[in-house]
Amino acid sequence: METPVRCPFCSFRDSKVTDSRANDDGIRRRRACIACGERFTTVETVQLSTVLIMKKDGRREDFNREKLLSGLRRACEKRNVSVAQLETVGLEIEARVASDGRPEIPSTFVGELAMDALRKLDHIAYIRFASVYRAFADIESLKEAVEALETGRIPTLEEKTLQLALPGDEPDPTRPRLLHDVESRHFAESVS
Ligand SMILES: [Zn+2]
Repeated sequence: METPVRCPFCSFRDSKVTDSRANDDGIRRRRACIACGERFTTVETVQLSTVLIMKKDGRREDFNREKLLSGLRRACEKRNVSVAQLETVGLEIEARVASDGRPEIPSTFVGELAMDALRKLDHIAYIRFASVYRAFADIESLKEAVEALETGRIPTLEEKTLQLALPGDEPDPTRPRLLHDVESRHFAESVS
């Protein structure tokens, strides 16, 4: 069922459709006001559904590439990472999020994608981002993250995707920290 379209001339609450055709910019409908008889056209377009990001506190918000980028930029301050590289990371993450299929995506997933990307670009930026994002509770957990970088024991994105796609959005404290999960070629690749 169509929703009633108000007449732009007299504001009458409904109009009748006299013609309707689909083209590239959507479905165009010729309409005539039931009250004043004026004719007008409406174009109906499909709006891509927005993916919602589920934050740790349970609030939902639209995915915001600018916001993600500002976090990445901060991590990369005075590092040898170009604006173009960060833009690319932002676009890739956005594409990944958009094609994910889940209507709601935990913010932790986005954070992991960002960390993944930074790790390949610059290890200092990665540690900076991780320290804000993971909110390392103490020097030990920071040390663990650095050690994980050094030993290359970093999970692949596929492994993380599997874990993060599990039910329950909150990181499970009983689950091993991602950084400890074995085996990745990422480190070798990023330093070679
Ligand atoms: Zn009218």
